[in-house]
Amino acid sequence: MSIKKTTPTDNSVQGPEDLPEPKLSKALLKEFIDQFNAKLKEINDTARSSHTKWRILLEQEGIEPSSEKDKQNARQSKQFNLAVAFPAEYRKVLQQLQKNTQSELESLQNRPTESSEASKLLDSFNRFTLSDLVTIELQRYLGDIKPKVSMADVFANAAGSLNKYSAGDSGDKSYSVKCKTCGAARSEEEQYGDCFYCGTPLF
Ligand SMILES: [Zn+2]
Repeated sequence: MSIKKTTPTDNSVQGPEDLPEPKLSKALLKEFIDQFNAKLKEINDTARSSHTKWRILLEQEGIEPSSEKDKQNARQSKQFNLAVAFPAEYRKVLQQLQKNTQSELESLQNRPTESSEASKLLDSFNRFTLSDLVTIELQRYLGDIKPKVSMADVFANAAGSLNKYSAGDSGDKSYSVKCKTCGAARSEEEQYGDCFYCGTPLF
């Protein structure tokens, strides 16, 4: 400690350098949550708007895009829409945001909270926003990109499914496991336990 501090005389006002590390205040938490919301909004806007920007975002985040085979698989099924961001890719980006936010939050949480209001805000952000982030945003995204169904499609699908059953497809084992999140059937080649379309673990 060679730097000599200008020590304030007894009754002088203390400078900011003399203050201990500030407590975790409501204002600071709000700022943190605003930043989180801005990041989430950017991800959501990009996922719904531009293929090029989405590819750049995946690169920046170091996330491997879904395989062409998985995309082909979705293309063949009229049930799904490829959308801008393939749902399994979108899920990975959300998971990364969740992980990063959690670790940033952990370093903030080392500080004592300033007020019970701040503690409440922290608790509700943790419990209702962060812990359910992936599930909630993925469901919303799947709903947004779902192909719009016209009455003509409904009749066509009804006829199609009758044909399918009469052809005896219902006994096919590969259709026995369905993704609870998006309804995709597990493809026969899928050895791993994640849904090819939305990335949710099947088991
Ligand atoms: Zn799925």
